[in-house]
Amino acid sequence: MPQQKKEEYCSFCGRKEKEVPFLIYGATGNICSDCVERASEIVQEHTQKSSKFDVKLTELPKPKELKEFLDGYVIGQDDAKKSLCVAVYNHYKRLLQDKNQGDDVEIEKSNIILIGSTGTGKTLLAKTIAKKLNVPFTIVDATVFTQAGYVGEDIESILTRLLQVSDYDVPAAERGIVFIDEIDKIARKGDNPSITRDVSGEGVQQGLLKLLEGSVVNVPPQGGRKHPEQKMIPVDTQNILFICGGAFSGIEQKIGSRLNTRLVGYGAQAKTQKIDKDNMIQYITPQDLKSFGLIPEIIGRLPVVTHLNPLDKKALRRILTEPKNAITKQYIKLFKMDGVNLIFDDDALDYIVDKAVEFNLGARGLRGLAESVMVDFMYEIPSMKTQELHITKAIAEEKISRANVK
Ligand code: ADP
Repeated sequence: MPQQKKEEYCSFCGRKEKEVPFLIYGATGNICSDCVERASEIVQEHTQKSSKFDVKLTELPKPKELKEFLDGYVIGQDDAKKSLCVAVYNHYKRLLQDKNQGDDVEIEKSNIILIGSTGTGKTLLAKTIAKKLNVPFTIVDATVFTQAGYVGEDIESILTRLLQVSDYDVPAAERGIVFIDEIDKIARKGDNPSITRDVSGEGVQQGLLKLLEGSVVNVPPQGGRKHPEQKMIPVDTQNILFICGGAFSGIEQKIGSRLNTRLVGYGAQAKTQKIDKDNMIQYITPQDLKSFGLIPEIIGRLPVVTHLNPLDKKALRRILTEPKNAITKQYIKLFKMDGVNLIFDDDALDYIVDKAVEFNLGARGLRGLAESVMVDFMYEIPSMKTQELHITKAIAEEKISRANVK
């Protein structure tokens, strides 16, 4: 009850009740309507300024532009690029839709699963697209998670990382992208659900499901459950885009047997001829993921299934020189800073690729092999008066063979 006799005043600006439009009474002080308005402006200004992740949905690049951007960094993988660009674009349209409500059509979330052997560019794709979108982005490895209550990380720690990269800007984190690597490692072993407790498999999948489905999750801001006293931050996962990646090694057999059973019978002959046995992963379907051991609920929450092709020699050769930050471009830049003109002979690069294929190292091995070729030069050249360095096939052979003998 406001006291009538005593003259009340605004505790913020100090003006008397008579001097302000009206006064709101509090238990220990009062505030006038002018101060409320000003305070609201300050709050608004602050929240707008503090978000470094200012996602302007109207300025979102179109799928074709996104793909062109990816092309600058990732060689090949056109199918995966297209699916990823469309899914990301639709995802942000979905965020836009929340603001323009008015009909009953609801665009559903399009979480993605990228399937392909290790080192084919899954992480690179996710990282590169996140760069273009200016949203909080984090990579987590599914192998570190265990069912709640067991040693290892709780699934909620995914969101802790997202909060950390968003500087604890919760609304920004709630529109972020999470790349969950090695999702195949949490698959149930064997095709039949086990009645015994499965710490590494199904329990984790159930935990993950909660995040993928979209729910409000209480997140420990510092991660871990070692600080039970810490205040939890509620994070709504409904608008977080999840991109999962996995090698699913051995899934080719499951694809093969599914195709075989389907191909027996009428019309089988014609279809068999079209199957490319060297790249079975391109025929992957959600059904194969189920056979591999992902629970149907998880598969249902990953509606976009796409694959990455194995990288052949031609692709590896392009990876060495074409991407915007290609390995050879990096060495050229390093040497240029010392005033040295670095030239790679084509056959030296071909040799590096041959070795990566021979040692079965894929794209990841290219860097290590190139480093073996370059390390002595990077050590010696800065102290010499050399103006040009020419890497020939003979040099590459010598350096790589020496590195392998060690
Ligand atoms: P994974 O599929 O296991 O996630 P990564 O994306 O981590 O593989 O690839 C490892 C490295 O290999 C990348 O950092 C990049 O240098 C190189 N790489 C792999 N695939 C490609 C590609 N398609 N185009 C360009 N570089 C690639």
